[in-house]
Amino acid sequence: MKIILAKTAGFCMGVKRAVQIALETAQGQDEIFTCGPLIHNPQAVETLRAKGVTPLPDDVDPDHGILLIRAHGMPADRIARLRARGLTIVDATCPHVVSSQKRIASCSAAGVPVIIVGDREHPEILSLQSFATGPCYILSSVAEAQALPALDRAMVIAQTTFNAADYEAIGAELRRRIPHCQIFQSICKATSRRQEEVQRLARTCDAVVVVGGRNSANTRRLAEIAAASGRPTFHVETAAELPLEAFATFTTVGVTAGASTPDWITEEVIRCLTTPRPLPRAG
Ligand code: SF4
Repeated sequence: MKIILAKTAGFCMGVKRAVQIALETAQGQDEIFTCGPLIHNPQAVETLRAKGVTPLPDDVDPDHGILLIRAHGMPADRIARLRARGLTIVDATCPHVVSSQKRIASCSAAGVPVIIVGDREHPEILSLQSFATGPCYILSSVAEAQALPALDRAMVIAQTTFNAADYEAIGAELRRRIPHCQIFQSICKATSRRQEEVQRLARTCDAVVVVGGRNSANTRRLAEIAAASGRPTFHVETAAELPLEAFATFTTVGVTAGASTPDWITEEVIRCLTTPRPLPRAG
C-alpha cells in the first residue's frame, strides 16, 4: 500500500511555537499552568503534563507558578489581573493573533467601532474582544451582520480560523451597510492550505486517514472535507484506533493531521499502516 503524507500535516507555526515555548519553560523549577489545554490533542497534552505543564479548566486561574498563554491568546484584563497577583506570565500567543490584537487596539483607540467575525465562545475571540476599548460587535453570519445597529464606520476582522467563503459573504454585507468599512484579511492560511490539500488527497487516493484529537475543530473539519468527497475516511487519534482490516483493498492511502497533532503520532499511524501483517490462518 502506498502512503501519501500531506505536506501540511501536523503542527502549524503557532502551535509549534507554543509547544517549543512550553518545553523551554518546563526546563525550570516552577510549576507551569495553562488555562485550557495548550493544544487540542489529548496525547500531546499528557506528554506535556509529564514535563510539568498542567492544564487547568478554561475559566480557572492558577494561584501560583507560571501562566503560559496559549496560541489563541487570553483576555488582556485577565492577564493583567494574574500578573498583579504575582504570577509570572509566559506569552505563547501566535504572532497572527497578536497582529489582530494590535489592529483592534489601535483602531478602537482611534474611536473606530470594531466588528469581530467568529465564534463568540472561542478563546481567541474572548482575547481579541478584550483589546477593544470602544464599541465592539461579535457576529458569525450574514443574518447577524444585517441585525447590527446603523454604523457610519467600522473595522472588521475575523477569527484566524474562520471559513474564508463565509467571511467574504459577511464582509460584502457589511460593506453594503457601513459607508466607511475597513475589512482586514486575518484568516490564517495554515487552515485553508490544509483543507485544500486534504481535498486533493481525497480526489487522488482510495482512502484518507485524518490523525488528530476529536476535540480539535480543525482536525474534525479535515475529516468532514475528506468524507464529503465520498472517499472512505478514517479519523483516528492514535494508531491503535486504525481498523486495519478495512485497508486491505486500498492501493493508495492519503494521510493528513490536524494543526495540533504531534508528528510522532502521525508517524506511528503510518508505521502501523505500512507494517506487513501476518495473513490470517485458513481453517
Ligand atoms: S492556525 Fe494559524 S493563527 Fe492559529 S495558531 Fe496556527 S499559525 Fe497561528
